[in-house]
Amino acid sequence: MKFASLGSGSEGNCWLFECGAEKAPTRLMVDCGFAVKETVARLERVGIDPQAVDAIVVTHEHGDHIGGVFKFSRKFGTPVYLTHGTWRAALRSRLTEPDYLETGRVVLIDSHSPIQIKKLTLHPFPVPHDAAEPIQMLIESSAGFITGILTDCGSATAHLVGMLNRAHALILESNHCPEMLSNSPYPPSLKKRVSGDYGHLSNQVACDILKRLTSGNLRFVVAAHLSKTTNCKDVVQQMWHEVLSPRGIGFDIACQEAGFAWRSLDPTAFAA
Ligand SMILES: [Zn+2]
Ligand SMILES: [Zn+2]
Repeated sequence: MKFASLGSGSEGNCWLFECGAEKAPTRLMVDCGFAVKETVARLERVGIDPQAVDAIVVTHEHGDHIGGVFKFSRKFGTPVYLTHGTWRAALRSRLTEPDYLETGRVVLIDSHSPIQIKKLTLHPFPVPHDAAEPIQMLIESSAGFITGILTDCGSATAHLVGMLNRAHALILESNHCPEMLSNSPYPPSLKKRVSGDYGHLSNQVACDILKRLTSGNLRFVVAAHLSKTTNCKDVVQQMWHEVLSPRGIGFDIACQEAGFAWRSLDPTAFAA
């Protein structure tokens, strides 16, 4: 299994996973917060034909995750997997039409039940975030490698930590520095939202989660969904280094413009 990102942050998110034989791999997109033209251009950057995407899984209805999903799906015929709550929210925002269900391209998923998409198994789990029915997930390859994703989450629950403890690689939000957030030009309501239990993970809370992942499985972590306004790459680098380096766990940082280049989940290629 390998993964890449087309961009990570409040202006648009999209992760790609690829698993299986080169001739017939499974290619999964998690979220698509970019317009179709931009998505196609960014897919080209990582060498993927839009027609070759087998499915899009949507974590929740915020524009930076769902903005491009249905237009992409209509253009390329890609099936969309999402929870009932996210589907209802997408209808309310007129991102799609009720009759899109009849095309067979919408698959409603349960936020606690594993689901198979070709060679990949998804293990979704609910997260505290200010959306209708948000999920994050583990993605398991046929060889048993597991990558966890956790972004857009305001606080850590015992359930999500238990799920992430199974992961060999992890994409983890490190959204903001609380001090930079409090000194930012954001209106008070936005500051409250971002730092609340249903907002986004601060650098410190991300580090606390990393410390709780003690199964010994974890080999590599990507810092994701960093705020351009209220975070600084160097701070994340320093904090994660202190938590992860003594444990021999490699890490890297995804960004809004460049995203994240393909990283193989071959155990020999783990270390950064
Ligand atoms: Zn987001
Ligand atoms: Zn969100």
